[in-house]
Amino acid sequence: MNVATPHLFVVEDDRAMRVMICDYLSEQGMKTTPLASAEELLRRVHTLRPDLILLDVGLPGSSGLDACRQLRVEGDRIPIILLTARIEEYDRVLGLEMGADDYIGKPFSPRELLARIRAVLRRAVTVPGTATALRADVQLGTLTFQPGARRLVYEGGREHLLTTVEFALLAELVSNPNVPLSRERLMTVVHGRASALLPRTIDVAVMRLRKHVETDPAKPRYVQSIRNFGYMFVP
Ligand code: CA
Repeated sequence: MNVATPHLFVVEDDRAMRVMICDYLSEQGMKTTPLASAEELLRRVHTLRPDLILLDVGLPGSSGLDACRQLRVEGDRIPIILLTARIEEYDRVLGLEMGADDYIGKPFSPRELLARIRAVLRRAVTVPGTATALRADVQLGTLTFQPGARRLVYEGGREHLLTTVEFALLAELVSNPNVPLSRERLMTVVHGRASALLPRTIDVAVMRLRKHVETDPAKPRYVQSIRNFGYMFVP
């Protein structure tokens, strides 16, 4: 994450509101990408990788809640703040259960929005496992994990840039060789907290990670399953 100039997606269908938020955040030194729908968000989030998503709940087509849930089910823990016009407790609780990091009710003051954004960004850089504690390269057979550059380098030089989730998971696993790590612990590393609602999201995230680090993802050598518990890195 570029802490000096964080990049935010602003997903809001109300044009005036979208422009107002983007203008204000730009004045505060942030980079913004305005988007008008959940579909547009899901199309672009994997390539542009913003530091945070401001996500309106009431959108045409898929709702902000649907988009939030989908990202979390995919194992993506990119920070999300929901913008909600409805102030019902139901929406707030549901939003947080869907994996949002925070929510803010409309109408809100620009200063309040900025304070929430800064708080969530601060938390995001201090999530365990995404810290820079791990520095040295780690060899996985012919594959090199370079934590500093957040990438995998394959024999022959092909590279894979790890997503935030892949990096957090792999860093936590290789930092604890031969130690079984529970799903709950990995959830906390990846999502910032354990979620009782979606305990299996970690399995999906591990499946994705294995495609990048295992020669045969069906017969994992490095990231092994510990039945009814979690996963273990075997160097
Ligand atoms: Ca709206």
